Amino acid sequence: MLKDNLTIVQEKIKEAVLRSNRNLDDITLIAVSKTKPLPMLEEIYQAGIREFGENKVQEIVWKSNDLPTDIHWHMIGHLQRNKVKSIINKAVLIHSVDSIRLAKQISDEAIKKEITVKILLEVNIANEESKFGFHKEEVLPALLEISKMPNVITMGLMTSAPFVDNPEDNRCHFRELHQLCVDLKAKNIDNTNMSFLSMGMTNDYEIAIEEGATHIRVGTAIFGERNYINIE
Ligand SMILES: *Cc1c(COP(=O)(O)O)cnc(C)c1O
Repeated sequence: MLKDNLTIVQEKIKEAVLRSNRNLDDITLIAVSKTKPLPMLEEIYQAGIREFGENKVQEIVWKSNDLPTDIHWHMIGHLQRNKVKSIINKAVLIHSVDSIRLAKQISDEAIKKEITVKILLEVNIANEESKFGFHKEEVLPALLEISKMPNVITMGLMTSAPFVDNPEDNRCHFRELHQLCVDLKAKNIDNTNMSFLSMGMTNDYEIAIEEGATHIRVGTAIFGERNYINIE
C-alpha cells in the first residue's frame, strides 16, 4: 500500500524535525509523481497529500485536468522557455529556474496573464557537470537581475544534491545552500522572499531537513521505483 510508504516517510520527517528542533509546519512534503499513473496519485491524495511534483510540463497539464483542483503542482524539472506559457498558471511554484533568460520569459508571460509567479533559483551546489542550475557565485547577480522583472517573485533556492551511497556526504552541500539562502535573505532584495529551501529527495531528505530544507521532494520512497520504459 502506498499509504504505508507515505506513513513511513511522514514518521521519518517528524523524527528529523525533532532532532533538529524545527517545526513540522515548516516542512512541505512534495510527493514526486513523475511517470506514475493517476490511480497512484489518487491514492496519495486520499491519504491527505495536496502537493505533487512533476518534471514535465505536459505531465502536469494532463494530470491536473484529471485530478481534483485543490492539488498544488510543483514544477521541479528543467523548463524550456517555449513551454513557460503552458505552465505558469498551473504550477504553484517553479523550482527549477536555472537561467536569467528563463526568468525573463516567465515574467513576460506572467505580465500577459496578469498573474504573479513564484519561483526558486536552482543551484548546482556541488558543481556537477551534468546538472542544470546556477553556480553558487552566479546566484546573487542573477537574483538582482530577476528582482527587477515584474510579476515574478523569487521565494528561495532549490538544489538536487549528488547521487551518493552515504547521504551524510550531502550534508555539507545542504548546509552551504542554507547559508547562501540566509545570506541572500539578509540583503532584503526587492521582489525576493528567500524563505524557501527546496532540497532533499528519497535518499537524503532527513539530512536535508536537519540542514534547513523547507520543501522536500520525495518520489521513490512513496511511489516505488520508476520504470521509465512505461512512460506514455
Ligand atoms: C525525480 C526527482 C525527485 C524525486 O526523486 P526520488 O529519489 O525518487 O525521491 C526530486 N527532485 C527532482 C528534481 C526530481 O527530478
